[in-house]
Amino acid sequence: MSDTDTRDPTSLRTPIVAVLGHVDHGKTSLLDKIRGSAVIEGEAGAITQHIGATAVPLDIISTIAGDLVDPDDFDLPGLLFIDTPGHHSFTTLRSRGGALADIAILVVDVNDGFQPQTLEALDILKRSQTPFIVAANKIDTVPGWNAHEDTPINDTYESQSDRVRQRLDESLYEIIGNLSDEGFSADLYWRVQNFQRNVGVVPVSAMTGEGVPDLLTVMMGLSQRYMKEEMEIDVAGPGVGTVLEVKEEKGFGTTIDTVLYDGTIRADDQIVVGGLNEPIVTDVRALLQPRPLAEIRTESRFEKVDEVSAASGIKVAAPELADAMAGAPVRVVRDRDLDQVIDEVQAELADIAVDTAEEGVVVKADTLGSLEAMADALDGAEVPIVRAEVGDVAPRDVSVASTAEDGKQKAILGFNVDVLDDAEQRAEIEDVTIFTDEVIYQLIEEYEEYVEGIEKAQQDTILENITRPSRFRILLDHTFRQNDPAVVGVEVNAGTIQNNANVVKFEGNEPNRVGQVKGIQEQGEDVDEARAGNRVSVAIDGPTVGRQIEEGDELWIEIPEKHAKILEQELASEIPGDELEALNMYLDKQRSRDPFWGK
Ligand code: GDP
Repeated sequence: MSDTDTRDPTSLRTPIVAVLGHVDHGKTSLLDKIRGSAVIEGEAGAITQHIGATAVPLDIISTIAGDLVDPDDFDLPGLLFIDTPGHHSFTTLRSRGGALADIAILVVDVNDGFQPQTLEALDILKRSQTPFIVAANKIDTVPGWNAHEDTPINDTYESQSDRVRQRLDESLYEIIGNLSDEGFSADLYWRVQNFQRNVGVVPVSAMTGEGVPDLLTVMMGLSQRYMKEEMEIDVAGPGVGTVLEVKEEKGFGTTIDTVLYDGTIRADDQIVVGGLNEPIVTDVRALLQPRPLAEIRTESRFEKVDEVSAASGIKVAAPELADAMAGAPVRVVRDRDLDQVIDEVQAELADIAVDTAEEGVVVKADTLGSLEAMADALDGAEVPIVRAEVGDVAPRDVSVASTAEDGKQKAILGFNVDVLDDAEQRAEIEDVTIFTDEVIYQLIEEYEEYVEGIEKAQQDTILENITRPSRFRILLDHTFRQNDPAVVGVEVNAGTIQNNANVVKFEGNEPNRVGQVKGIQEQGEDVDEARAGNRVSVAIDGPTVGRQIEEGDELWIEIPEKHAKILEQELASEIPGDELEALNMYLDKQRSRDPFWGK
């Protein structure tokens, strides 16, 4: 802007809007529809394409919304839609103290209803306390729907058959019910009095544009009514923003796509940017905006501008940006004290920093915001983190993970990042498991399954080396051999008889070892064990039938005291009920002599 700039120094900026929702529910289509409608209404493109965002001015919104919006009721300049939908960009785009987006649209497919990423998005909105509206999308797919392109919902709803209306109502009420299950009081938007307390549901079709006028109206109304104060900024003040993406750009080197949410940034400003290791202090070399479509055939896709004011998306080219991080703060220094600005950036970074423990898993994510979201989710799942960083999985991450003493923590969880080739090779050698995914809850689920697998394997090994309890009885007329070894037919009453286990007979509560199992046969076949309910013949080395043991005797497998302790304290939930019962009876007998036996 020039010297003739007569704008009020404090003015209202455009609210920043993010679109969230489950994959395929129509986020991109809805954004396209809004942009498309805006282009048509504005004829010569009154919408402005920013870097990473699209601004739709108030007069275009009011043309699209028709009777629903009277532009005189508003003094906010319009809406700035972030072009990349999804909660990933939402969590990346943060500002001091919370989400950068002032307001969100949660898209839910009316046929598909709530899905995992819908819940994940709701969680994020809840945590960041971002006001939102639900777009119940794809109403045109209700069987029998009679489309009326780009009309407000009321007009098209009235012209549908009873059956169609009923079907739509059912889907909408299901969504409202789901929202309520998640702790949000919601209703169809025209019934909502207070949008701060209740979530408005707007039926729309991103395909036919039905309900889009309503959606824009509600967004505009909500911002005007409840956010006006937050939109008051010092336009001429030093700019404040967030890095959306760090990108190499031919002819410009490393650039940062930035969303500016306060003040102004100028082409000759000094800026401080959050970096991987420390804040980066650098001078703007160029501010770049997308060139209007008509001029795109010229050499660069960008055009240089002298300054931009919030809210806007702008590409900043400057030296030393290689270590800049997506999600990090950007602050203009201008006539302020440089150290103070560095402190501010550092404070913001510290705000996002993840608490790490002495031991735990390694976490990598593509942006600061997603790193923080991962840390929150892992905290909820009680998984400790030893190191959390922005960036691809590199060999040094594998080195850190490989030092974990607990095998379950020899793991790296990578969210939306790549695994470098040498890291992969190294992980194989070091026995480190790397998990990557683009959905946080799936990533954590994969890791939890892995942990369960390890725990199960550990218990199985313990169980393999432990003597299993068993109570069994010698059957009458089933002595096949008197001694050396004695071979008798038995019925297993509880637990498991295993080969080589010692056998005891209780005299009162006194266990007397009578011998050792030296073979089990079931129907003439050698077997390793016999379970409760089986009738088998057992060779017992030691006793003579008629002397130490008799037909009809109740015998037990002897459980070493240490094994009894592990069985009772660690494996009680792993062994079958009948075995547990045998264990408890055995313990009772032992403890009637010595109350501390096996404790
Ligand atoms: P995203 O993954 O949430 O961004 O979903 P998309 O916008 O890519 O949409 C997924 C699919 O649903 C695409 O095939 C769209 O054409 C389709 N779709 C989106 N919105 C609508 C709608 O309102 N009506 C119909 N019939 N199809 C839609």
